[in-house]
Amino acid sequence: MSNQNNHYLSSDWHLDRRCFDRKTVLLLIDGMRQDMVFSSDRQSAAKMRFLDSARRGKSRIAGVRGSYSTVVKVQSPTVTLPRIKCLTTGRVPGFLDVLWNFFASELATDSIVRRWHSANFSVQFYGDDTWTRMFPGSFAMAQGLPSFFATDFYEVDKNVTENLREALSATSSWDVLILHYLGLDHIGHIEGPNSRLVPDKLAEMDAVVESIVTALSSQPVDWLLAVTSDHGMSDLGGHGGASPAETRTPLVLLSSVQLSSSLDPSIELPELEQTDMANLLTSWTGVQPPRASLGLLHPSLGGLACGGFSNSLLSNNNWLDLLELEAELNSKSAKQPGDLPANSGHLSSSDINSRVY
Ligand SMILES: [Zn+2]
Repeated sequence: MSNQNNHYLSSDWHLDRRCFDRKTVLLLIDGMRQDMVFSSDRQSAAKMRFLDSARRGKSRIAGVRGSYSTVVKVQSPTVTLPRIKCLTTGRVPGFLDVLWNFFASELATDSIVRRWHSANFSVQFYGDDTWTRMFPGSFAMAQGLPSFFATDFYEVDKNVTENLREALSATSSWDVLILHYLGLDHIGHIEGPNSRLVPDKLAEMDAVVESIVTALSSQPVDWLLAVTSDHGMSDLGGHGGASPAETRTPLVLLSSVQLSSSLDPSIELPELEQTDMANLLTSWTGVQPPRASLGLLHPSLGGLACGGFSNSLLSNNNWLDLLELEAELNSKSAKQPGDLPANSGHLSSSDINSRVY
């Protein structure tokens, strides 16, 4: 942290300075289906052996004291740009975002990246250049890599891993590290989810997870690694639709702190919405969630919230406020085609109300 005095503060927000010592890594594996991580099929689980043992509390690395595995439900359209928007803003972008998927421009909406930047967190990013186009000037260090070359299964990922290696050798230089790997999604597009290349790619991603956990566990700070994907992959290998294979993505949280009451993966944990990710990540880092976020922090993840503000997060869902905000967003949407909420993609008042915990 370069200057803790500059952290984002608002009049009703109580910060605990210990939150600022935490390390956060968001690892996005583009196109990863939930069954690639949670399948009971032994063949599949064996490909992510480290992740599987760590989330079950059986890692040989003693520093993993908290784990949480669940499915994150993703709204359609299941394409990358609107999903990154959802994940970072806690909002549900509409179908027109598909049209803008290849023309990512700076995101005007409040987001976790903006919150961290305002709070003077040092954020590094490596991977899909959608992020660097959406958040110019927000990263202390970044390398955005083009996602257009679907035939590239390895080069972009290798580049991300090289940057990761450097970042892990200098953990004091960042607070938040965001990685977005593309190779798995590209394999899906060309060869489908049952390609013989998929298991090896998953093993490569598993080695990435292990390197992050190994490095963070050796640090005298609390840390959180969130492994998830922007969307899934259809049985034909593409994405964009609303099939369960495309809309149900895995989330594995590993941490130095206990996150939930149990490490036993047989205990069913509630599924999350992708809109919840923004609140989850900001609560861990002790900054306010993005203003427009519809996300919630489920009580089962209360152990994740840092400082004395978790109550306000848990009740960050006065749905009348949210409806007011929705109306405001809808009135603005016609001027912002990139953020246009579609009727079918938006949470209704009953959805919101039913999710008040
Ligand atoms: Zn994607």
